[in-house]
Amino acid sequence: MRDGFPDFRLGSVLATSFTGTLSERHGDAVERIPTPQRLVDWLTVSGLAVDSCTPAQLDLARELRESIHAVATAAVTHDPLPPSAVQVINDCSAEGRAAAFLTPEGKRQWRLSSASRVEDALGVIAADAISIVAGERDGRLALCASPTCRAAFFDTSQSRTRKWCDMNTCGNRQKKARFQAKQRSLG
Ligand SMILES: [Zn+2]
Repeated sequence: MRDGFPDFRLGSVLATSFTGTLSERHGDAVERIPTPQRLVDWLTVSGLAVDSCTPAQLDLARELRESIHAVATAAVTHDPLPPSAVQVINDCSAEGRAAAFLTPEGKRQWRLSSASRVEDALGVIAADAISIVAGERDGRLALCASPTCRAAFFDTSQSRTRKWCDMNTCGNRQKKARFQAKQRSLG
């Protein structure tokens, strides 16, 4: 917790890190970007720093987040991609005006067209989601095995057998639950 807000769970993949800002969608949902300032914080730690965010921009961000979640879920379960969610992703991608820059150290950096253009940052996230769902990246899109979570994550492990969106939370909880069930059956 920071300032009374839930911590971020940052993964190495931008789009699924973003969808992870709402966790436990099928349990007691935890909203990790409850205020515009928390979206600013998240974008900053994700390499997409903005100065400010309006409530309307936060709404748009959440709409994009849930659209990515819906599309990723459908892609994993081999269902048709929900057209309205695809539309939101495409609109955000089209609206973004961020540019990729190469640093002298050979790293990619995003530059937004202005410091208040949350839409530019969302465009980068939308494009990242598109590349994952389209299968252009090396990895496997999957859903967390925790029944209360079912978060989409991108498995880049060598064996492609990762089960949980996050080892420290969902993975541990599952292990603990299994352990307790075993203790009960022994006792
Ligand atoms: Zn999970």
